[in-house]
Amino acid sequence: MSTTPTVTPASGESRMLIDGQLVDARSGKTFDNVNPATEQTIGQVADASSEDVSDAIAAARRAFDTSDWATNHALRRRCLEQLHAAAVEVQEQIRSELIAEVGCPIAVTRLAQLDAPLADGLLWPARTIDSFEWERPLADAEAFGVPSWRRVVKEPAGVVGAIIPWNYPTEILINKLGQALATGNTVVVKPAPDTPWSATRFGQLIAERTDIPAGVVNVVTSSDHLVGEQLVTDARVDLISFTGSTATGRRIMAQGAPTMKRLFLELGGKSAHIVLDDADLEATLGFAAFGACMHAGQGCAMLTRVLLPRARYDQGLDVIANSFSMVAYGDPTDPNVIQGPQISSRQRERVLGYIDKGLSEGARLVVGGGRPEHLPVGWYVEPTLFADVDNSMTIAQEEIFGPVLVVIPYDDEDDAVRIANDSPYGLSGAVSAQSEERALAVARRIRSGTVSVNGGVYYGADSPFGGYKQSGVGRQNGIEGFDQYCETKVISGSATP
Ligand code: NAD
Repeated sequence: MSTTPTVTPASGESRMLIDGQLVDARSGKTFDNVNPATEQTIGQVADASSEDVSDAIAAARRAFDTSDWATNHALRRRCLEQLHAAAVEVQEQIRSELIAEVGCPIAVTRLAQLDAPLADGLLWPARTIDSFEWERPLADAEAFGVPSWRRVVKEPAGVVGAIIPWNYPTEILINKLGQALATGNTVVVKPAPDTPWSATRFGQLIAERTDIPAGVVNVVTSSDHLVGEQLVTDARVDLISFTGSTATGRRIMAQGAPTMKRLFLELGGKSAHIVLDDADLEATLGFAAFGACMHAGQGCAMLTRVLLPRARYDQGLDVIANSFSMVAYGDPTDPNVIQGPQISSRQRERVLGYIDKGLSEGARLVVGGGRPEHLPVGWYVEPTLFADVDNSMTIAQEEIFGPVLVVIPYDDEDDAVRIANDSPYGLSGAVSAQSEERALAVARRIRSGTVSVNGGVYYGADSPFGGYKQSGVGRQNGIEGFDQYCETKVISGSATP
C-alpha cells in the first residue's frame, strides 16, 4: 500500500467574506482548524461574533433589496460560470484543504466530496436560469364577476441563511450556492466550526475572481454554533437552507417559527439495503463494507442496514464479512484508503458508545468494534460489522455516523419492506434482485427520498435529493430544489377591453 501523499500541503483562507470584503472578525479573535488524521492544528480562522453575523445579514439584505441581482439573469449566469471556472482552477488546492480539515480520503474527494459536485453543481443551476419557467400564464377567468388575466411569477425568496455540516462541506456548499444564487437570492454561508476552510476558500474566490456584487454572498466562520441560530432567528433572513443532524433541524424549526422562516432541511438517515432472495450475493454484497465505511461512515445517505432473507442469511453474512477484510483505512492522503478518521474525538467517542450499546443490547460483533491499535494518532474507529441485529435495537434505529454496518434477517418481502420502513428516517435505500422489475416494485414501497435499484446511482445536480419523515423537508438539487429557493406570486389584471 502506497503511503506517499499525492496532494499539495494545505493552507486555507482565514478571512471571512462580508459585504464584498475579505475580513477578520471584528474582535480579532480566531479559532484553530484541526486535522482529524494528525490531531494537529493546521491553521486559524476568523471567529465571528454576533456583530459580524449581523453585518453579514445586513449586507445580504441590502444587496437583495437594492441591487439588480434578483432580476438580472445574465449577470447571475455569468457569475456562476466565473465561480465554477475559478474553483476548477484551484481544484487541487481545494482538495488538499478538504483532506486536511475533513480527514476525507483523497479517493472520496474524486467522488461526491469534490469532483462530482464541482462538475455540475454550479453550472446546472446556471443553465437552468435560461430554461426555468419564471412565469406561466393561467387561463383568463372571471371570479366575482370580474374578467381577469392571471400570471404565476417565480421570484427569489430573499436572503438565504446557508448552514453547512462538516461531513461533505464543499459538496453541500456548492449545491446550496448554485441553486440559491441562480434563483436570485443573496446568501449568508455558515460552515461547521470543524471545516471552515471549505467555505472561506469559496469566499476568497467570489471576492477576487467573480463579478458577484458585494453582499450577494457572505461567509461567516465561528467556533460558536449559535452563530448559526442567529441566522434562524433574525427577521431579515427569509429562508434557512440547512444540512445537518435531525436534532439541530428540529431546533431550527422551533427557532424559526416566530419569524415564520421558510425552511429547507436536509437531515440524517438510517438507510436500508434490501437484498431479495434471488439476488447474486457476491455481486450484490461484495462491496457492502465499502458502502458503509467510506469516509468513516460519515455520510447521510449511506446504506447502514443490510436486510438479508433468513434462508440465505449465513451465506450473505460471509460475503459481507469478507468485504470488510478489504477495507483500506488510515491516512486519508493515501490513494488506496477509503476510510479516514472520524471528524473529532467527540465523534469517535459517540461512535464507540453506539458500538457498546449494540453489544449490551445483544447484537453479535463480527468485525472490528474498537479503536485500531496501529493508528494511535487520529480519531479512527475500526470498520465494524454487527450481525443478528433486531431492527428495534438502538444501532438499527439511530444514525451512528461511523463505519458500522448492521445486518438484519427478514422472513419474506413484506417483512423486508416493513423493516426498511420501520425507521424515523427516510433518506435513502437500495434494493437488489435478479429481476429489475421485482426490485423496482419493492423500491416503490420504500418510504424514502432516493432508492437505488441493483446498484443504480441517483446522484447529480439535476436529481432532487432529500428525505421523507425525519430525514428532512424539501429537496437539494433538481427543479424541485431550484423551485424551493423561490417565492410564488400571482399577478392578475382586468381583462375587460
Ligand atoms: P449538526 O447538526 O451538528 O451541525 C450542522 C451545522 O449546523 C453546523 O454548521 C453547526 O454549526 C450548525 N448548528 C449547530 N447548532 C445550530 C443551531 N442551534 N442553529 C443553527 N445552526 C446550528 O450536524 P453535523 O454534525 O455538522 O453533520 C452531521 C449530520 O448532518 C448528520 O446527521 C448527517 O446525516 C447530516 N447530513 C445530512 C445530509 C443530507 O443531505 N440529508 C447531508 C450531509 C449531512
